[in-house]
Amino acid sequence: MPSTPRRILVGRLFHESHSFSSQVTSRKAFEIRHGEDLLAHAGHSGTTLGGIVKRAAELGCEVVPTVSAVAPPGGLVDHSFYTQFREAFIALVRRERYDAIALELHGAMATTEVQDADGDLLVRLREAVGLDIPIGIGLDLHAHVTQAMLRSVEICIACKENPHSDVVSCGERVVECLAAMLDGSFEPVLTMAKVPMILPGAAETGSGPLAEIHARARALAGAHPEIWDISLFNVYPYADDNDMGQAVVVLTHGPTQLAQRAADELAQLFWAWRERFRDNLSTIDEALDLVRQDRGRRPYILADMGDRVLAGAPGDSTAIIEHALGRADRLRGAIPVTDPDSVQAAAKAGIGARVTLGIGGRLTPGFAALTVSGVVAAINDGRFVIKGPFGAGEETSLGHTAVLVVDDRLSILLTSSPGFTHDPAAFESQGIDVASQDFVVVKSGYHYKLNFAGIGTPLGVATPGIGYYTPGLLHWKRARFWPEHELPEREIRSFVYGKSLKKVG
Ligand SMILES: [Zn+2]
Repeated sequence: MPSTPRRILVGRLFHESHSFSSQVTSRKAFEIRHGEDLLAHAGHSGTTLGGIVKRAAELGCEVVPTVSAVAPPGGLVDHSFYTQFREAFIALVRRERYDAIALELHGAMATTEVQDADGDLLVRLREAVGLDIPIGIGLDLHAHVTQAMLRSVEICIACKENPHSDVVSCGERVVECLAAMLDGSFEPVLTMAKVPMILPGAAETGSGPLAEIHARARALAGAHPEIWDISLFNVYPYADDNDMGQAVVVLTHGPTQLAQRAADELAQLFWAWRERFRDNLSTIDEALDLVRQDRGRRPYILADMGDRVLAGAPGDSTAIIEHALGRADRLRGAIPVTDPDSVQAAAKAGIGARVTLGIGGRLTPGFAALTVSGVVAAINDGRFVIKGPFGAGEETSLGHTAVLVVDDRLSILLTSSPGFTHDPAAFESQGIDVASQDFVVVKSGYHYKLNFAGIGTPLGVATPGIGYYTPGLLHWKRARFWPEHELPEREIRSFVYGKSLKKVG
């Protein structure tokens, strides 16, 4: 044990940025915490930063907090907010004393001016601290991993599961690797292989082709002690940058040909199995038929896949409401809709008032508002604490909210901003009883399964919108990938990064 404790500088910038959303993500979408406030919240939160802070303390390190900024996925981040964050963060980094840096980043953040904001941040961080301070990052597995990022850090680790049940251990692992570097027992080398493809579906790691690729990765790591980590990044498809694709990142102790072979083998599996990455989702009416027939499994938790706020969509779809109102079975449901104007109109009318409003449909191109009449049942500031496990303990906001009860059975949760609805607290904090619904709509495709486990039956629904890959719907300017584009070449490309190495292209 060193006589003075190691000091680990920690921070977080977390946003998944949808290049095709009409909404710019501004300062007000971010929950921002500094210093001791950051530590108090992160210490027990179900996040990668939580894992970083917890493990650093367990290893006897002193944690040096900087700043944390987190927003729900959404449109490109306002560039001036990003540069203010970056300058403030770099100023803190220059002022503090520490032995290593551990950050939580999403890895697919873009601003209105910079495609690879995470890479930009890390390049400037490396410039600020010089070559002697180790930097470790814990990323979301939907990161768009770039060469700029890997050139700037020693440790790069993703959570391994979708839904992301293991984000805390991702953060813990980052700190363990940094601690081993500081002890001199670990010389990290990162090897990346990239495949120019997205996953059009089958994106869960518990079943299907991803389960098999992860099993192979675990077998490789288990058989070779020089492999410290293999992270498989399923790139966020709504980024729009050069060189987008599935990324296999192998972290080894020292340079070894084994890393290259492992990365290439796993990358090849993605490509060889690409046709297996397709979903077969229920239509809205098939889903509602199931809700009607299968009373014992209610409430069903319906994932509005096309309008997933957790994939950056605006959350203003009314497609499921329209179908539910058009059916004779009078199902009870709770459905969130992003619509600040309707929140204001409902608040102005007041609780108990009957109103007729055109709700939703104004933010996503191609959507239209749906006219409904109902009674205003609640008005709220929209703040709540995520129960978890995904994001447990995080304070978040839906913006000001109103609950409109339509036809005595549909509770429409009108929100002023796109928010996290993958958690029952999003509804219950607004006075909506989840257990008494026949169905609850969430704007999440995967993580809601963790947070509604034991509460409802999950079901993915094929719905319109920019949150689910539909061939030909969107027009990427820079990115080229299967299955959207004809590719002139499809070879897997590999890169190696390490302190003692030049980058091998
Ligand atoms: Zn993710």
